[in-house]
Amino acid sequence: MTYSKSGITTRKFDVVIVGAGGSGMRASLQLARAGLNVAVLSKVFPTRSHTVAAQGGIGASLGNMSEDNWHYHFYDTVKGSDWLGDQDAIEFMCQEAPKVVYDLEHMGMPFDRNPDGTIYQRPFGGHTANYGEKPVQRACAAADRTGHAMLHTLYQQNVKAKTSFFVEWMALDLIRDAEGDVVGVTALEMETGDLHILHAKTVLLATGGAGRIFAASTNAFINTGDGLGMAARAGIALQDMEFWQFHPTGVAGAGVLLTEGCRGEGAILLNSNGERFMERYAPTLKDLAPRDFVSRSMDQEIKEGRGCGPNKDYILLKLDHLGADTIHKRLPSVYEIGVNFANVDITREPIPVVPTIHYQMGGISTNINGQVVVQNGDVHNQVVNGLYAVGECSCVSVHGANRLGTNSLLDLLVFGRAAGNHIVEFASKTKSHKPLPADAADFTLSRLNRLDNAKGGEYAQNVANDIRSTMQQHAGVFRTQASMDQGVVKIAELRERAKAVGLADNSKVFNTARIEALEVDNLIEAAQATMVSAAARRECRGAHTVDDYEHPADHPTAPLGRDDANWMKHTLWHSAGNNLTYKPVNLKPRSVESVPPKVRTF
Ligand SMILES: Cc1cc2nc3c(=O)[nH]c(=O)nc-3n(C[C@H](O)[C@H](O)[C@H](O)COP(=O)(O)OP(=O)(O)OC[C@H]3O[C@@H](n4cnc5c(N)ncnc54)[C@H](O)[C@@H]3O)c2cc1C
Repeated sequence: MTYSKSGITTRKFDVVIVGAGGSGMRASLQLARAGLNVAVLSKVFPTRSHTVAAQGGIGASLGNMSEDNWHYHFYDTVKGSDWLGDQDAIEFMCQEAPKVVYDLEHMGMPFDRNPDGTIYQRPFGGHTANYGEKPVQRACAAADRTGHAMLHTLYQQNVKAKTSFFVEWMALDLIRDAEGDVVGVTALEMETGDLHILHAKTVLLATGGAGRIFAASTNAFINTGDGLGMAARAGIALQDMEFWQFHPTGVAGAGVLLTEGCRGEGAILLNSNGERFMERYAPTLKDLAPRDFVSRSMDQEIKEGRGCGPNKDYILLKLDHLGADTIHKRLPSVYEIGVNFANVDITREPIPVVPTIHYQMGGISTNINGQVVVQNGDVHNQVVNGLYAVGECSCVSVHGANRLGTNSLLDLLVFGRAAGNHIVEFASKTKSHKPLPADAADFTLSRLNRLDNAKGGEYAQNVANDIRSTMQQHAGVFRTQASMDQGVVKIAELRERAKAVGLADNSKVFNTARIEALEVDNLIEAAQATMVSAAARRECRGAHTVDDYEHPADHPTAPLGRDDANWMKHTLWHSAGNNLTYKPVNLKPRSVESVPPKVRTF
């Protein structure tokens, strides 16, 4: 035993936020400004969180460059979600969008500017004017470094507001008391290897996505789904995990992202015949159709033998016609990525791309205040006291079965702010902390000591790599029932192997092997949630495409069969029993008419 109760220190805060990405720091800013004592934990320095890698933009109907309003944005997002998004949440997000973008502008965010001084906006996939008629310019951008600019702006404002940061601290488990209320977290200080308890009135999870459950991913290595793991282990279901977005343009072989902003600026996709094939699949929006649509079309071209290169296994993204000046001004990072990761000068020649895992639409269920909600018998959406979740680890659900580009940075800002406001209201009413249960750290201690004592156990990275290749093989762009069923069996075997991971060296100081082993516990929760939820969904919707189904009879170019009568519902995966329940989609916005389901063509 290297870890014991006596070695644990306890600290008290009003609010503990796990995650210093855009969502965590937008929430912490609201709290610190209101004078609350707030701690933000992060596995990495805050400005290295994955939000820093966001390139293309933030969606908001400012209408600076073409006619726009939030009703169009609302319609696009509902249609983009393939009618799995909750329309009240989507309505709230699109209404709030201009406000949170102007907030950011006033904090000093260095947006690109139009000659008249307004924020520059570029077109993006699935964003249209007049309910699908033509592309609209809605993505507010700082060149192709929008996330970088946003994260630094938020960090600076947090420093000013005196937020406490705990850098290189890894949260391990939620602490729930006998009534099920969340009263804190356990966390490992990575430098010393010491275990701590952070006692709080409120805990907010903002741990980002789990994109590293796949082998080829645009995501940072730290995106191991820790918040999902913490929730799942604490008995909280994960919602809609079968829906994973493939971004059409990851650099082939490298996985690094080339923003959709490339196509927003006018880049096009070509097959081996030099054909702009998206004109066939999406006659109106073409290369700017939503991501699930474009990724499937690319995969189809490759499958039918029109892929490029010696192995006919990639598509080309052509940008040279934009001109070197535009590329250097609007897409400077894309230019650098081309040179560094593909040895291609995009001002002269096209660059090889393939659909690459990018974003999880599912996550921890919340309401529009960011409060985590669970199912209790027949009652849906019962609040878990003391627990909030925002950002990519949460599922509100505004993205449904397929997210539109730029709507994630927006979601971080809107719901980070909303959760912050709600906590301020709650914390001002609640004077004291609920006591910590006597066994607050026991579960975490047992996890740490099992690892430390399992010297002969398997190496964590072998299990992690096998999880990744299994997910890649069995939960790809096109899925089949048979392959998903095999995936379910393989992931169950991997869960057993994950339990037997061991440490060759159990020294405490900055032991990255221990951290990787603890991350495997989170990867397996996210992976099993995905595989089991996917295999159970007997239809195609958004990013979940199963080859076994037919196109709608009167729409041969529309996606394969969606079954609204039986499957317009959210999946809830419960870790303890590895079982599923379902809850209805909210089709009722508060102030406008519902967008009724129809076939998705673009
Ligand atoms: C390459 C790329 C480009 C993108 N471009 C765009 C775009 O242009 N527009 C758009 O809208 N969306 C974009 N997205 C999506 C969007 O950037 C992400 O969904 C979003 O930034 C996630 O933010 P977040 O706050 O939820 O989490 P993140 O920014 O991922 O931050 C997670 C935080 O949690 C911390 N953390 C995790 N686990 C633990 C733990 N156990 N203990 C302590 N801390 C922990 C991490 O250290 C980090 O600080 C892009 C995504 C990628 C990968």
